[in-house]
Amino acid sequence: MAKYIFIAGGVMSGIGKGVACASIGRILLSKGFKVGAIKIDPYVNVDAGTMNPIEHGEIFVTDDGTECDQDIGNYERFLDQNLSTDNYITTGRVYQKVIERERNLGYGGKCVEVVPHIPEEVISRIKKLEKKTGADFILIEIGGTVGEYQNLLFLEAARMMKLRHPQDVVFILVSYLPIPKMIGEMKTKPTQHAVRQLNMAGIQPDIILARATVPLDLPRKKKISIFCNVSEKDVISAPDIKSIYEIPINFEKDNLGNRILQKFRLRAKKNDLRKWKKLVKNIENPKGEVKIGMVGKYFKTGNFTLMDSYISVIEAIKHACYSLQLSPKIEWLDAEKYEKNPKTLKELKNFDGIIVPGGFGSRGVEGKIKTIEYCRKNKIPFLGLCLGMQLAVVEFARNVCKLKGANSTEFSPNCQAKVIDVMSDQKEILNQKKYGGTMRLGAQRCKLSPSSLSFKIYKTSLISERHRHRYELNNQFRAILEKKGLRIAGINPERNLVEIIELPNHPFFVACQFHPEFKSRPLRPHPLFKEFIKRSSK
Ligand code: GLN
Repeated sequence: MAKYIFIAGGVMSGIGKGVACASIGRILLSKGFKVGAIKIDPYVNVDAGTMNPIEHGEIFVTDDGTECDQDIGNYERFLDQNLSTDNYITTGRVYQKVIERERNLGYGGKCVEVVPHIPEEVISRIKKLEKKTGADFILIEIGGTVGEYQNLLFLEAARMMKLRHPQDVVFILVSYLPIPKMIGEMKTKPTQHAVRQLNMAGIQPDIILARATVPLDLPRKKKISIFCNVSEKDVISAPDIKSIYEIPINFEKDNLGNRILQKFRLRAKKNDLRKWKKLVKNIENPKGEVKIGMVGKYFKTGNFTLMDSYISVIEAIKHACYSLQLSPKIEWLDAEKYEKNPKTLKELKNFDGIIVPGGFGSRGVEGKIKTIEYCRKNKIPFLGLCLGMQLAVVEFARNVCKLKGANSTEFSPNCQAKVIDVMSDQKEILNQKKYGGTMRLGAQRCKLSPSSLSFKIYKTSLISERHRHRYELNNQFRAILEKKGLRIAGINPERNLVEIIELPNHPFFVACQFHPEFKSRPLRPHPLFKEFIKRSSK
């Protein structure tokens, strides 16, 4: 049987609970254990796919096409594993299943109740992953913050599991210790309250990860220990650090891995964070810098811009840079500015490379097209991702092929030259308003042309990459695009869809219909990103 580690958050959200969970996973891997991880999101949405990125941050996509929380991306990157729908639970999924089972008489005439039937469904999903993976440890991150109504049923599931398997369940609270300016001292009270909230749900944390801007000092450690009923050794300091990839190493300084193992009466089989340490060494000792501009629409909630919506792209850039011992400087550039005032485009020259990432909706699209034109003409290394590829095709169709009214039907349904269009199956889906989980999703194959740059980069002819989009390059225009010099570098062999385009005679101009960023790992940077960064740094 596996050991279960539940991880909940205290005080507030956004304190890096997902990365903490992923880091614990990496530590356990380094000690020779097999690890599985589950993210529980307490919202009623069945998955993250229908949510606005401003609401939710990035929508991550797995090989099997699950549109999920960005923490699944953190788990994939830290554990270096491909995850699936079994690693992701939402309130929506759980209720949907329970109601479906009830309708099929699956409860044999019983009154179906929120407790225990909802937590039971949660537990059965945890067990399902255990069975499927044969993992020694299942990490279960409960989204949200303790004390809120939404995640109570998941805490209830955790409590029930502890009751059934008292020796095999450990609870970790990731809490936050503020240092209010006017006081100038780190305060433990919010954490004490968070523990009380957990206690009310019938749970006593075994370990507390103390997130704060600075390391925890001894008086604070003692205070948390006494007031929260946790041994001093189990209060782990988790200060802000430069790179998230240092976190496993930092946790290990406080002996977190062994503390966890001791709770389960286990011993490490090995201790091997070597590759991870090498990564961090590269991060800390760059030989140069590379400046990458990401051009998109202006994201704002109140006074805050949310780069979070592109976390996988940002991490993929970083992975590539680290492997080349470069330090990334990433800047978010507002596409609408280039639309309103094209003169400002020349600031793009200050960057070593430009990325136009994925996106939905028409805002900023014309500015992105202008950006791509500028990169093409001024030979600035350019990487287009999903929407970025579609707009590169529109730009080429308009300005090189001179196709009047070239556009994507996403933005101009009746345009004259529909160079990017929906396939007939997608038309049907859209007519029926069946938006959830119906895009072209997940891993699909792509065959590379032997004469392409992409083939040289991937060093193989058949690749698999993850998708999340409805629109495609319209094959009716392929001949004219190719005739004018656009290289079709990759095709999906099953459906004859264009997956990668390139421009020859350019330092680097590659755009893909898929999202390579989802497959980049800190220890295995994605080849497209790596080549893009390499050429940008020249
Ligand atoms: N909006 C485009 C489509 O649906 C691109 C999507 C994306 O960039 N992920 O095809």
